[in-house]
Amino acid sequence: MSRFVDVILPIPLEKLFTYSISPEESSRLEPGVRVAVPFGKSKIYTAVVHHLHDSPPHAYDAKEIYDILDDRPVITSTQFKLFHWISTYYMCTMGEVLRAALPSVFLLESETIVSMNELKEMDESGWTDPEFLVMEALRHQQSIKAEDVSQILDKKNILPVLKGLLDKELISVKEELYEKYRPKLTRFVKISGKYRDEAALSELMDKMGRAPKQRDLLLTYFTLNKRKDGLVKVPELVRRSDSASGQVRALIDKGIFEEEYLETGRLVDVEEEPTGTKKLTEEQHAAFEKVRAYFENNKTVLLHGVTSSGKTEIYAKLIEETIKIGRQVLYLVPEIALTTQLVGRMEKLFGNELVVYHSRYSLNERLEVWNNVLNSTSRARIVLGARSAVFLPFDDLGLVIVDEEHEPSYKQFDPAPRYHARDTAVVLSNLFEADTILGSATPSLESYYNAGSEGKYGLVELKTRYNKVLMPEIELVDLKDKYRRKRMKGRFSDRLMEEIADTLDQKNQVILFQNRRGFSPLVECLTCGHSPQCPNCDVSLTYHQFKDQLRCHYCGYHIPMIKLCLACQSPELDSKGFGTEQIEEEVKTLFPDARVARMDLDTTRGKYSYDRIIERLENRDIDILVGTQMLTKGLDFRQVRLVGIMNADALLNFPDFRAHERSFQLMQQVAGRSGRTDVRGKVIIQTYNPYHRIVQQVSAYDYTGMYEEQLEDRRQYKYPPFYRLIRITLKHKDFNKVNKGSAWLTMALQKYLPNEVLGPEFPPVARIRRQYIKNILVKIGPDQSLTQTKEAILILRNSFYSIKDYRPVRIILNVDYY
Ligand code: ADP
Ligand code: ZN
Ligand code: ZN
Repeated sequence: MSRFVDVILPIPLEKLFTYSISPEESSRLEPGVRVAVPFGKSKIYTAVVHHLHDSPPHAYDAKEIYDILDDRPVITSTQFKLFHWISTYYMCTMGEVLRAALPSVFLLESETIVSMNELKEMDESGWTDPEFLVMEALRHQQSIKAEDVSQILDKKNILPVLKGLLDKELISVKEELYEKYRPKLTRFVKISGKYRDEAALSELMDKMGRAPKQRDLLLTYFTLNKRKDGLVKVPELVRRSDSASGQVRALIDKGIFEEEYLETGRLVDVEEEPTGTKKLTEEQHAAFEKVRAYFENNKTVLLHGVTSSGKTEIYAKLIEETIKIGRQVLYLVPEIALTTQLVGRMEKLFGNELVVYHSRYSLNERLEVWNNVLNSTSRARIVLGARSAVFLPFDDLGLVIVDEEHEPSYKQFDPAPRYHARDTAVVLSNLFEADTILGSATPSLESYYNAGSEGKYGLVELKTRYNKVLMPEIELVDLKDKYRRKRMKGRFSDRLMEEIADTLDQKNQVILFQNRRGFSPLVECLTCGHSPQCPNCDVSLTYHQFKDQLRCHYCGYHIPMIKLCLACQSPELDSKGFGTEQIEEEVKTLFPDARVARMDLDTTRGKYSYDRIIERLENRDIDILVGTQMLTKGLDFRQVRLVGIMNADALLNFPDFRAHERSFQLMQQVAGRSGRTDVRGKVIIQTYNPYHRIVQQVSAYDYTGMYEEQLEDRRQYKYPPFYRLIRITLKHKDFNKVNKGSAWLTMALQKYLPNEVLGPEFPPVARIRRQYIKNILVKIGPDQSLTQTKEAILILRNSFYSIKDYRPVRIILNVDYY
């Protein structure tokens, strides 16, 4: 009989932690079950059982577990395999993986509970006012949470008060887990028993002639009444009858309605019947058959289809086939908040078999999706989600779709696990022997390489748009020339203005793309050249006109816009560069009759603000939409005829080995928003470098040209897909520690690794939130072992931390760094 259990704690511990268990507990425990365990001084954590065994830990005495929280595992054995892979591959702890993977309601931490001691007599004379208030509250309730004490006293630091009460032996405190999940209760009403009789009811209706609102309400009740038990949801009743909930109350008080609360799920049901998929065109059908043939041979497929060629329709067909045999589907998109249109489209096709796993969903909603997936219910046959959906407890996964597979946002940057969701999804799919399809109009070099010369993936292509609409015509505008010949108004060339005017005349819509938010990146003094800087980060503050503020995009620091130069007091200030806000301002001046809106991080913070902008565009309440790369994410607009890219150079000059690939993808995707229906669209790209290879390739829709050139660069300079990269980042407040530490670590890496080690180097922004940053890049060649390199890095990290001076420096490992 096992007497010990190793658990994963949801904190960055390198090792599993061992606890002792009784024989009875041992029989109830298995991997994946949650337990409450004591850890540290007095904390209680929710941990997950990894395995049971007989060997006591060497370094410490095993404590007993506190409680068993589940009757059956909440984590499946396949998930365990996946989580292990993530933790090894991305060099992080299992605890970090769990934190990212489990809805936080699963991982409760303890909370301090205050209760009153049983005392015979209480001498109130020595109590302070706050102590008196706490004791008053405890007279009415057995115990209260520390959080409540904080509310009662209206202050954060309640420790002195609690300590006073403890010293007087009036209270005791203990740590307890509390459940955050609350099942959702919905209020229902039904007609009272006595009115179920025809005669009584018609008498009632007659009497109600004098209260028409209530009569309406009652009639609406009968149209909505579809359940056997006669219950109708109150919110729906109120909405459909256009009345106030006070009127429902009135009917309850009169004994006409009876109320009842029922537990309902939070997953919103779609009411319409699903329509099923569309008939594929000939080209689409051929592609679909090719995909299936590759699947038969257990090959992952890369679907390379131009924008609007119907990739989504092909996914739909594949989904249909998969759910027909009762298997589950994972449909990954780069950012779920940006895919309202796709969700609507899929719901139409598949109704309630589709659920969405959404980062803006509440904890409880996520938990419900989790449980539906775990139980393989038909309510969650198809999961549409962003990257964290790869962590769901699939039971019988049959198909994995990764849409817009080239999107960099699939890679998690911070915190660990720094995983790539596309790559993780491929691993997940393999665990289930499921089919995998990656789709994009502009595939990543890595995937295209895998599909091309490597033959690792099957390649399927769609070369024409649905309806045979031609790809939009792309015109390059040379900014240097336009400025010289004074053909510019602000940031707008004459050509762009002409095309906007034409498009608006024809009652069509315009999208203007500017890859930078805010009004202008920085403010510069014309007298001394000073730009106001963020005190926490190594960057200039940017001007945001709407709030008339200077803001830091890294840490959020902000001050009111300055009137005088902070260095020399000169009032002559200039704003340099340009962002979405300035474009919006200018276009409003140039086209005063057009309705202009802006879409960027600043205008889409709320839960539905993004949806609202999309909806306004669809309803044609917007003529011109100015936006950042948010615009590129798979939107399907009917009436957009013109896309303007304000400045291609800002993209091309970004200091990163993927900058050219990214620029091509972004411009091609933005261009793809134009002319998606029957009439050919138009794209204008403004640039100082019209002969730049990437700009030329964009205008010629030459993906393979771009691919081949970029691939050659990558081969020559030793970057992916030929080399793997691990980026090591050092971070600390103290400049010297970072500087010396990174030099030490680089030396050590160079000495012990056969690999190429680059750096250490300060990034373009070398200080963020008061922390200095320095990077080292380890390149792993095709003949080198990834595993051994990783092992060496971990050993060297330990040596690094054994040097006292470096111990406080943070080391961040980013495998397959993006
Ligand atoms: P992609 O995913 O390649 O960008 P979509 O699947 O969004 O392309 O297709 C573009 C538009 O054409 C969508 O509005 C879609 O509904 C429509 N469409 C594509 N294929 C078909 C088809 N076979 N039947 C009807 N409509 C189609
Ligand atoms: Zn100045
Ligand atoms: Zn800052």
